[in-house]
Amino acid sequence: MSLHPQLDPTLAPPFPQAALPMLRNPQLRKNVAHATDVIQAKRAKLVAEKTDWQQLRSAASDLRAHALENLGFYLEQFESRCTAAGGQVHWASDAAEARQIILDLLKQENATEVIKIKTMTSAEIQLNPFLESAGVAVFETDLAELIIQLGEDEPSHIVAPALHVNRSQVREIFARRMGLPKNEAEALTDDPEALTAAARTYLRHKFLTVPTAISGANFLIAETGSVAVVESEGNGRMCLTLPRTMITLAGIEKVLPRFQDLEVMLQVLARSATGERMNPYTSFWTGVTPGDGPQHFHVVLLDNQRSAILARPNERQTLKCIRCGACMNTCPVYRQTGGHAYGSVYPGPIGAILTPQLMQMQHAQSLPYASSLCGACYEVCPVKINIPEVLIDLRAQVVDQERDQPARFFDLMYIGMKAADFIFARPWRFHASQRLARIGLRLFTRRDGWIHSLPSLGAKWTQTRDLRGLPKQTFREWYAARPTNSTSSPSLDPEEMPGAPSMHRHSGAWVGDRKSQPGNPSGETRPSVLSSSDPEPKPGAPSMHRHSGAWVGDRKSQSDKSKKEAQ
Ligand code: SF4
Repeated sequence: MSLHPQLDPTLAPPFPQAALPMLRNPQLRKNVAHATDVIQAKRAKLVAEKTDWQQLRSAASDLRAHALENLGFYLEQFESRCTAAGGQVHWASDAAEARQIILDLLKQENATEVIKIKTMTSAEIQLNPFLESAGVAVFETDLAELIIQLGEDEPSHIVAPALHVNRSQVREIFARRMGLPKNEAEALTDDPEALTAAARTYLRHKFLTVPTAISGANFLIAETGSVAVVESEGNGRMCLTLPRTMITLAGIEKVLPRFQDLEVMLQVLARSATGERMNPYTSFWTGVTPGDGPQHFHVVLLDNQRSAILARPNERQTLKCIRCGACMNTCPVYRQTGGHAYGSVYPGPIGAILTPQLMQMQHAQSLPYASSLCGACYEVCPVKINIPEVLIDLRAQVVDQERDQPARFFDLMYIGMKAADFIFARPWRFHASQRLARIGLRLFTRRDGWIHSLPSLGAKWTQTRDLRGLPKQTFREWYAARPTNSTSSPSLDPEEMPGAPSMHRHSGAWVGDRKSQPGNPSGETRPSVLSSSDPEPKPGAPSMHRHSGAWVGDRKSQSDKSKKEAQ
């Protein structure tokens, strides 16, 4: 059972293989580049107006780290406060258990239809195809999710799932799938207002007639037992107020200690996600209120490997994520491939670290390598997740997994690395190989100075981009041959150095110039993420025990800790 085999890490091809068709699709690359450019520009403008942005990031990071270090305590507090307010909390240890709980709740309601607020967690557990196979019709109410659902497409971004689709494609999908009368379908234009009006008419009927809704949660507030959802279209507000029954599915990491913590989190989330000072709709609901809103309220708390991630000190910071998508918009790899290449509902840099951990590595081993490690993702992350650090750690785990496999001796990459190890060990070997490579590559270098096609392993490079031919002289040769009686220093102008890469746009991507790299439009030099002085998440997470099917922290150890601190 899989709605999106392409986005199921157990079935999806490895990243390099999945990325190829995306790289060869100029329309998709254009759509992704345009959309991410727009969001990045809006974000940069609003971040620039906050003089305390770095302090806000630090506060958000500390809040998330504190909540994770005391997760068991805050989850139990959330459960007791939510229950006291009339809600019911269910614990699901994995995707299958969460799906079954939700289906059972829908059966209790005799529901054959359900409306949904956008939730990545439901996509993670493949909820839609499960419900549809059980006879429950699912209607997405977020505009982008609706486009994806009607187009039988797959989400490619966690905030803007239809970012790879342009408006003329949306017009075609709506005209074909909304069941519009023929004359209305033909008259539909790709004007955003006309498309929004068509979606509004289509959805309004669902809001007024379907009595059961499913949502995700941006945050769970332990202090009050409340659920918080932010959105831009008002569809969430409709789902929260009109149905008789509301079911919220949330990962256990979404908890925040206090209502006041939203003061920080909402400031960084809106700016990072959509480039807004505040989301147009920010909704909270706490249990049930007689005569007002849903009269049956359920929260399904999903573990699905999150406890295992929490138990690993280096990777624990992954759970601080607030799903803003800023790391995707700035990532030079995501901006070239779009989201489908990641084979997961979580694409981009956060997907490259989250998916292998949710899927216990073996299903997503290529993802930690889907990064240039440039550090742009860390720079924009509002909760300071050091994604490159986690990527390197996961790469080490992949290497460790493969170390004992005899098949690696026949792997071309392994053989190449061993050869590089041998060559780089002695300067004379390195110089000799440079001379040989120059002679060999001359065979493939065209008159324009570029190599358009290479055989064997090299073909992977030239499949999607060209390679500049090697210069006649290496830097060392030029340096050794320069006139020594000159009083002036050798030129440091890169353009005057033979062999220095020239700067120009080629095959749709900037090459050679770090200043022009996507994700670094300002040309600022980034601090090395690997030498960051940011503290790691504090070790010493509370011990874990199983609670109603989910792993939670040890409340006793928390209260002991509090007592000690008070003394
Ligand atoms: S890792 Fe950071 S930047 Fe990326 S989605 Fe999560 S919170 Fe946003």
